[in-house]
Amino acid sequence: MADEVKRSGATVITDTETATANSENNRTTMMERRKSPRISTTPPAPAAPPKFADYEPIVGTAELNEIRFIARGLKGKTVKMVNSTAVGGGVAEMLNRLVPLLNEMEVLTKWDVITGGNDFFEVTKGFHNALHGGEYNLTQEAKDIFVSYNEQNRQRMTFDEDVVVIHDPQPAGLIKSRGEDQKWIWRCHIDLSHPHKDVWDFLRPMVEQYDASIFSSPAFTRQLANPQYLFYPCIDPLSEKNKPMDEAYIAKVCDDFGIDRTRPIITQISRFDRLKDPVGVVQAYKLARKYVDCQLVLAGGGASDDPEGAVVLQEVMEAAAGDPDVIILNLPPWCALEINALQHASDIVIQKSLREGFGLTVTEALWKSKPVIAGAVGGIPTQVIHKLTGVLVQSVEGCAYQIRYLLTHPEFARQLGKQGREHVRENFLMTTNLKRWMLLYQLMLGVAKKERAA
Ligand code: UDP
Repeated sequence: MADEVKRSGATVITDTETATANSENNRTTMMERRKSPRISTTPPAPAAPPKFADYEPIVGTAELNEIRFIARGLKGKTVKMVNSTAVGGGVAEMLNRLVPLLNEMEVLTKWDVITGGNDFFEVTKGFHNALHGGEYNLTQEAKDIFVSYNEQNRQRMTFDEDVVVIHDPQPAGLIKSRGEDQKWIWRCHIDLSHPHKDVWDFLRPMVEQYDASIFSSPAFTRQLANPQYLFYPCIDPLSEKNKPMDEAYIAKVCDDFGIDRTRPIITQISRFDRLKDPVGVVQAYKLARKYVDCQLVLAGGGASDDPEGAVVLQEVMEAAAGDPDVIILNLPPWCALEINALQHASDIVIQKSLREGFGLTVTEALWKSKPVIAGAVGGIPTQVIHKLTGVLVQSVEGCAYQIRYLLTHPEFARQLGKQGREHVRENFLMTTNLKRWMLLYQLMLGVAKKERAA
C-alpha cells in the first residue's frame, strides 16, 4: 500500500499499524509454536550414500588424490569389520559410511554384526558402564554368557580376510579365530582410562592378543602389550546432520519450533543427561541474559525412552521456570535434518559437559563455523583450542561470561568459527578417517615396505 491510507468504516489503518499488527500476530504464533513445536513424527526416507568424488568440493582434489594413491597399494586386499549393532549409535553410523568408501577404493571390506540374546546384551551393557568407571559386580555367570555368545558367533562367522577389525568389547572374544597370516585390530571407541578392575582383568587377555589396538584419544588408553594407534572419531560432511543447508529449510525449522531469527540464538544439542549439564546451561543463559538479549534452545532426545532422561528434562523445565525465551525440544531419533538446521541457525553453540566422550556435537558445530563454548572435558579440548577454535569453560559463571563476550564481539566469534571449521576439515572428517584406516592396513600388511623394495 506504500504510503496510502486505507479507510474502512470508522477505522483508519496505516502501513505502520499493519506492520505492527502483523508482527504482533507473528509474535503470538511464535509463542504458541514454542509451547507446542511442530516436531516430525515419522522418519524421512534415507538419503543415497555419497560417492568418494562427492567429497572433492569439501576437501579438495589434492586430498582425494592422496587417498587414491594410498589405496593403490591395497587394491584387492580384504578386510572384515565386526561390531554389535547395524543401526543406532555412533559406531554403526560411522561404518555405514566407511565401508562403502573402502569398497569404492577397492579395499574389499565386509561388515558383520554379532548376534546375541538379551542376556548377552545385558552383560555387555554392564561391561560398558563398568569400563567407563561405573559400579559392577562381575559374576561367573556373566563371564560364561560373554564367552558362550562369542563362541557361538565365532562358529557362525568366517574369518578369511587379510585384516579383521573388531569394534569395542562385545565381540572381543572372536580373536580366538585368528589365522596364521592375518592381522587383527581392536578398535576401542570407549574411554578406558578408569575401567572397573574385574571387568578389565577379564577382557585384557583377549585384547592383548590383537596385533594392534586403536583408541579415540590419548586420554582414553591403557597400558597394553600391543601397539596402540590414535584415530579421532569423525563426522561425515555429506550426512544429513552435516551437509550444507538451504536458508529456506533453516527458516522453516526455526518457524516450526518458534525460534525468532531476528534475535541471537544460543543452542545446546544433547541427550537430557546430567553429565551434559543442561541445567547449568539454563543458569548460564539466565546470568548472561541480564546483559545481552538472546534465546536459548535446548534440543535433545532420549527423554521418552530413558527414565533418567525424563527426570533430567523435568529438571531443565523447572530451571527454565516458564521463561518464554528458553525453547526446550525433545526430539525423536530421526531428526538429523532438524538438528543440522538448528546448528546452522545458532549464533553460539554450547556443549557444557561435565564429562564427555569425544563430543561429536562439538565437531558438528565447529564444522558449521559456529563459535563454540564447551566444557574442558573428554575429547573436547582436542577440538576446542581455547580462544583459537572456540572457548573452554569450567563453570556456569565462565559460560555466562563467554556468552556475553561472544555476543558482543561478533568479529572474534566469527574468527573462532572459521578456524574451528578448518580444524575439523583437517582432523575430524570421514575422509581423514578413511586415510588413517588405509595407512594402518598398509603398515600392518607391510605393503609400504614391499612397494619400496620393488
Ligand atoms: N544427537 C541427536 N539427537 C539428539 C541429541 C543428540 O541426533 O537429540 C546427536 C548429536 O547430533 C551427535 C550425537 O547425537 O551426533 C551425540 O554425540 P556426542 O558424542 O556429542 O554425545 P553422546 O550422546 O554420544 O554422549
